[in-house]
Amino acid sequence: MLATFAIDIQPTTASRIKELDPDNMVFGKLLADHMLVAEFTGREWQAPRLVPYGPLAVSPANSALHYGQAIFEGLKAYRQADGGVAIFRPLDNWQRLNTSAERMSMPSVPEDIFLQGLRELLKLDEPWVPNAPGSALYIRPFMFATDGFLGVRPSENYHFGIITCPVGVYFTKPLRVRFEQKYVRAAPGGAGYAKNAGNYGAAMLPTRLAQEEGYNQLLWTDASEHQYVEESGTMNVIFVIDGKLITPAVSTSILDGITRRSVLQLAQDWGMPVEERKVSSREVMDALIAGKLTEAFGVGTAVTIAPIATIGFEGQDYDLPTPTTEAFSRRVGVALEAIRSGQAPDVHGWMVRV
Ligand SMILES: *Cc1c(COP(=O)(O)O)cnc(C)c1O
Repeated sequence: MLATFAIDIQPTTASRIKELDPDNMVFGKLLADHMLVAEFTGREWQAPRLVPYGPLAVSPANSALHYGQAIFEGLKAYRQADGGVAIFRPLDNWQRLNTSAERMSMPSVPEDIFLQGLRELLKLDEPWVPNAPGSALYIRPFMFATDGFLGVRPSENYHFGIITCPVGVYFTKPLRVRFEQKYVRAAPGGAGYAKNAGNYGAAMLPTRLAQEEGYNQLLWTDASEHQYVEESGTMNVIFVIDGKLITPAVSTSILDGITRRSVLQLAQDWGMPVEERKVSSREVMDALIAGKLTEAFGVGTAVTIAPIATIGFEGQDYDLPTPTTEAFSRRVGVALEAIRSGQAPDVHGWMVRV
């Protein structure tokens, strides 16, 4: 790790904060004024810098573009009840970034570049953290290869960056999803557990085909038998069957989501039984038809909790009951929001002050 470093700051001379309309924040559209940049050259990380948000120059031969050495993370910072700003579980994201980096044969990012860099960035762009209930500053760390070399081998040079954008409450209509029986998101031994760019590119066609059939998202199933549930779109998926929380156990083909971890922790805190194991489409459909499946929902940083209203299976649609205000998915969404905004005690030490 580097010794503590002073981050060089080049502030913008043309802030775009006036373009921020707190009542109309489209996810990912308006990026905050500054970004963190750090280059890995000569086998080591150079001191990170904060510069105005803007285009980067890359070699047309860079191996991220040709061979997919590109990874990312997603987390959020929240305005606190006392006016300050806190980040939700950033060290979990830092560790996962390095898990992804290892899988893609990329260098790991030192904790201080990630966390100290992120803190300094958020101090500089503090006015961009919205304060309406449910809103947040979405944070996108990313790393990609920068060698201008067409040979297939791990790049020697890399760019690490962090960009951010304000986001509002993600009002999702309950989702229509269907089991995917043809395409595969990730296979055992592949890179599904890494947040690497290629996973998302390859999911776009199957997702679009499902959307053309009127679904919002897919319920991905395992690569060999198309029997066991993996994830829903780019979220982990959780079912409530017979009062138990059931979710696919993480594996090399499932992304280990931090929202998933947090939801399972709160369920345990509340004394609710939690099962992390294989879940087959048959089990889900049998429980749905027998009235034992009371809730199904996706979990991820962007949406937090996305309730599923309809599941398509073998050409037919099946509706789930409408969750009541007492439903686990509702209560856990409210509880997470209270922790993130500083209104509820942070007993697990999830919040990191900027
Ligand atoms: C990011 C991601 C998730 C959710 O992870 P969080 O840490 O909860 O945001 C789930 N599945 C996939 C494929 C993802 O990329």
